[in-house]
Amino acid sequence: MQNKVFVLDTNKKQLDPVHPAKARKLLDNGKAAVYRQHPFTIILKDTSEEDTDGYQIKIDPGSKVTGIAIVDGKKEVVWAAEIEHRGDYIKRRMDKRRVIRRSRRTRKTRYRPARFDNRRRPEGWLPPSLISRVANIETWVKRLQRLCPITAISYELTQFDTQRMENAEIEGVEYQQGELQGYTVRQYVLEKFDYQCAYCGKTDVPLEMEHIMPKVRGGTNRVSNLAASCISCNRKKGSQTAEEYGHREVQKQAKKPLKDAAAVNSIRWEVYNRLKKLCLPMEVGTGARTKYNRSQAECEKQHWLDAAFVGESGEGVDLDSEMQILNIKAQGHGRRQMCLIDKHGFPRTKPKDSKKVKGFQTGDMVRTVVTKGKKFGTYYGRVAVRKNGIFNIKTKGGTVQGVSHRYCNLLQFADGYGYAI
Ligand SMILES: [Zn+2]
Repeated sequence: MQNKVFVLDTNKKQLDPVHPAKARKLLDNGKAAVYRQHPFTIILKDTSEEDTDGYQIKIDPGSKVTGIAIVDGKKEVVWAAEIEHRGDYIKRRMDKRRVIRRSRRTRKTRYRPARFDNRRRPEGWLPPSLISRVANIETWVKRLQRLCPITAISYELTQFDTQRMENAEIEGVEYQQGELQGYTVRQYVLEKFDYQCAYCGKTDVPLEMEHIMPKVRGGTNRVSNLAASCISCNRKKGSQTAEEYGHREVQKQAKKPLKDAAAVNSIRWEVYNRLKKLCLPMEVGTGARTKYNRSQAECEKQHWLDAAFVGESGEGVDLDSEMQILNIKAQGHGRRQMCLIDKHGFPRTKPKDSKKVKGFQTGDMVRTVVTKGKKFGTYYGRVAVRKNGIFNIKTKGGTVQGVSHRYCNLLQFADGYGYAI
């Protein structure tokens, strides 16, 4: 299956997405034109009074990749994408910039005593590498809102419902109670013990829920009485308590509730606050819930699938796990650096000119039909411009170097993202 095609009417009102075959028909009959290549959107040549279905956009934020899925009223996934973030790249660039600035400072200024700790960051400040991930998600939710009649958001906010888990620690809810409960407790305990055996520290072995005060001696099923343990340690420990077995620290660790995952994951909260400003009804889910829904559907872990499984509405979504989704890669909008430098930090090239060369800009999506010479063929991809009009084109199969601008046809302006086709 493929992603459905977004449809706008002539006034850019968002209509129900249609099957690619229907979109093809509309285009062939001249009733519509291509509005945008990625995500593929068509625009009708007429107005439409048809009522649209409600669509929910579901988001599973990740540090490297974020999954997005759009689900219709019948709980069917109609469109999905994965966004690859560039946080690591930004971090590397910032480190590099810092080195250059430092070296320049010692070269160009007289001695000044070091100043430190004299700057204040506004409350809620996040480093650029993190804020870029937040911005990526916000950008795409807003873009999709313009193409599809989205009426609700579903978002994975935290790893665990800490409120409920802490209550479980206090109240001692039985962990067999209800399937989800058991599933969540298991995840929670595993997370607490860092997916290691609490006694021997092994990681890549199956882990069991082990009672610190054994059940035969009146141990409860409270979360604070559970530890993650490998099978052999569990057996060796037998009916001893953790302390008798020589592991007092396990007892201590089990008593401590897991710190609020939200504090660790500041991006999720920042995204949440920004999405809230879109004034759409918002459902929040936990990572444990997502995992449970995925295990019920017996799907492999993929980011867009996780997005579809977020929250309570993620139970029983209708999807095809082989669906062809859109792969989006955050690329940024170019650099400010004027000259490239050599290994000594001296300028290696002339300051750069305008971003546009022969009407093209790095990042534009182009279709290139080369009719003669060594580069004979048709290429589709992201262009990198050179001042002399000889471009490189990054296609799915690799980079094609040295193609003249004369063969290039612009399909979509650079929008800060690359698309794999
Ligand atoms: Zn062990």
